[in-house]
Amino acid sequence: MKRNRLVKPSKHTRLFSDSTNEFVKYRYISGLVVLSVIVLLVASFMSTDAQTSVPISQTQVIDLPGLSADEQLQNQAVTTTSIQHSQVQTPPPLSNTATDTVVEKAPSSTLSEVEINEVEVLNQPIHNAPEPENNEPELNWQEVTVKSGDNLSLLFPRVGLTAQDVYHVTQLDKKTISPLLNLKPGQIIHFGTLSDADDATSLVHLKVSLSPIETFHIRMAGDTYQAETLTREVDLLQKHVTGSIDSSLFEAGLTAGLTDKVVMEMAHIFGWDIDFALDLRKGDHFKLIYDEVFLDGQKIDDGDILAAEFTNRGKTFRAIRFTDTAGWTRYYSPEGDSMRKTFNRTPVPLSRISSRFNPNRKHPVLKTNRPHRGVDYAASTGTPILATGDGKVAFVGTKGGYGRTVILSHGGKYTTLYAHMSRYKKGIRSGQRIKQGQTIGYIGSSGLATGPHLHYEFRVNGVHRNPLTVELPKAEPLPNQYRTAFKAQAAPLIAQLDTLANTAIAQSE
Ligand SMILES: [Zn+2]
Repeated sequence: MKRNRLVKPSKHTRLFSDSTNEFVKYRYISGLVVLSVIVLLVASFMSTDAQTSVPISQTQVIDLPGLSADEQLQNQAVTTTSIQHSQVQTPPPLSNTATDTVVEKAPSSTLSEVEINEVEVLNQPIHNAPEPENNEPELNWQEVTVKSGDNLSLLFPRVGLTAQDVYHVTQLDKKTISPLLNLKPGQIIHFGTLSDADDATSLVHLKVSLSPIETFHIRMAGDTYQAETLTREVDLLQKHVTGSIDSSLFEAGLTAGLTDKVVMEMAHIFGWDIDFALDLRKGDHFKLIYDEVFLDGQKIDDGDILAAEFTNRGKTFRAIRFTDTAGWTRYYSPEGDSMRKTFNRTPVPLSRISSRFNPNRKHPVLKTNRPHRGVDYAASTGTPILATGDGKVAFVGTKGGYGRTVILSHGGKYTTLYAHMSRYKKGIRSGQRIKQGQTIGYIGSSGLATGPHLHYEFRVNGVHRNPLTVELPKAEPLPNQYRTAFKAQAAPLIAQLDTLANTAIAQSE
C-alpha cells in the first residue's frame, strides 16, 4: 500500500513492543484507533491531492540508464516534461524550463481574456508540431547553458563529446546550422547522447530553443547528421482597437491596450504624412486592425497591422497592408497610393525635437556663432535611429564633434547624416545597402553633445536643407498588375474600419 509509506514505521514498532502487561489490549486498541485516524487523514489528503501526486510518482519511476544520481536529477526536468505532455496531449515542449506552467495553465482561460467582442478567431485549431523524438532510443539528455566566450569546442566536451563530434557537426551547411554558430550567452543546448560499452559518448540529437515557436535540431541520420529548424504553427487572432490622443501617442496606445511595438509600427505607417513629434494634437484618434500571435492559447507576440486609420487635426489617413507576389509588403491608401515617400520625415519617429534647423544659432557647447544645419531629436540613449530612405552607407565612424556618425547616400542626389550615436547597428559597414526604416544606430551623446539626442542632416546635391520642410520625392504607387488583388484584399478591411467607426460612435452616444 502506497499510503502506508507515509506513516513512519518506527512509531508503530515502539507502540507494540512495550505492551507486555494488562494494558496490552487497551494500548493495542488505542494504537489501532490512532493508526486508523492517521490512515484516514492520509487517504483524504491523497485523494484531494491526487492530481499532483500522480505525475510526481511517475517521474520517480523513470530510470535513466547510464547516468549518476546527480545527472538523473538534472535530467528529470526533461523527463517530466515529456510525461506531462503526453498526459495533457499538447505538442512537445520547446523550452524545458516551462515544464510546470504548460500543464497548469489551461489554454481556454487565457484565450477568454482576449476574446472581447472585438476579436475574431481566424484559425481556431491548434496544429501540433511534428514529434521528432518518436523513433529514438533512450538517450542521455544533458543541458548546457552557453556562457560568454563559449564556442562548440568548449561546449561539446562538457557532455563528454570530442573535437571530432564538433567537426562532424560543423561539416553541415553553414547556413542551416547558423543558430549553432551564433549562440548567445544564456541559450541552453540540450544534448541527447548514447554511451557505448567502452564509455565512449556519441551525439544522437541536439536541440536549441530559439524562440517559443522555433527549435533548432541536429539529429544523427545513419552515419551522418541532419540539421533543421522546426517552426510550430501559431494562431493569429485579429484584434480591432480604437484610441484617442490625450497627451501622447504612447499613452493613447497604452490606454487602448496596445504594446509599444504596435504603436511604433503605426507611427511608421503614417510617418510620411504625420510628423508624430510635431503634428500630434489632443483629440487625434486612430483605429487599428492587427494580428495577435498565439501559441497553445497564450499570446506570445503582436503580429502585423493589417489596416489602420489615423485622424490628425481633422484629416484622416487610411492604410492597408498588401504583400505582392514577389514578397514585398507595403502599406497603401485604399486608392492604391503608396503610404510611403522615398524619405521618412523623421529618423526617430517618437522623439522630441530639441533643436531646429537654424542658420544663425549659437552652438550650445562651443558658445560660438554656429549655424545649426540639421534637426536635433531628443530621446533616451539606446533609442533606435532609422534610415529615412533606401540607400547605401557612405560613411560609418567618428567624425569630430559629430561623434559616432553614419552617412547614407540615396541615389547620388540626396545624403542623410546621423550623429552623436551611442553605438552603430551591429554589422553596419560602408557600402552596405540600407532599407528605409532599417535601424542604423542608437541615440547617444558621443562627440559634442549636451545630452542624448540625434543630430540629423538632410542634404540635396551637397547643400544642407531643412529636413522638416524640404520637398520629399514621392514613392511609386501600387503597380497596376496588383490592383485587382489589392482591391479584393482591402475591401473587407475597409468595411471593418467603417464598422469600427460606427461602434465607436455608438459607444460614445
Ligand atoms: Zn544638432
